[in-house]
Amino acid sequence: MSANFGRMIVMARPVCQNCHTEWSWKDTQKSMMQFKRGMICPHCGETQYQSRDSMMKTSMFGILPLFLGLPIVNIFNLSWLGTTLVILGVGFAYMSIIPFFMKLSNKDELLW
Ligand SMILES: [Zn+2]
Repeated sequence: MSANFGRMIVMARPVCQNCHTEWSWKDTQKSMMQFKRGMICPHCGETQYQSRDSMMKTSMFGILPLFLGLPIVNIFNLSWLGTTLVILGVGFAYMSIIPFFMKLSNKDELLW
């Protein structure tokens, strides 16, 4: 069980399931910017999808900015501009760490 848990939290970059090339942080950012269902591998051009368990992990992290951002806005009683900046900042931090938790799949797996 502890080994399993260790594997769950280990940071790894996404690996293309078609050509087995590890995507760099920049590759991943570029692929994510397309905001399509699939992501094109920059190395072999095949479409890759986020695997189901990594999707669950990343959506868990998606909730985190709300928990982190809202208290900051409340505590400092920020203006609309401040609120927007906090959301942008947290969003950027979120986008930056996603590549370390993303796993790829050749197939489009349904989330639920
Ligand atoms: Zn590839």
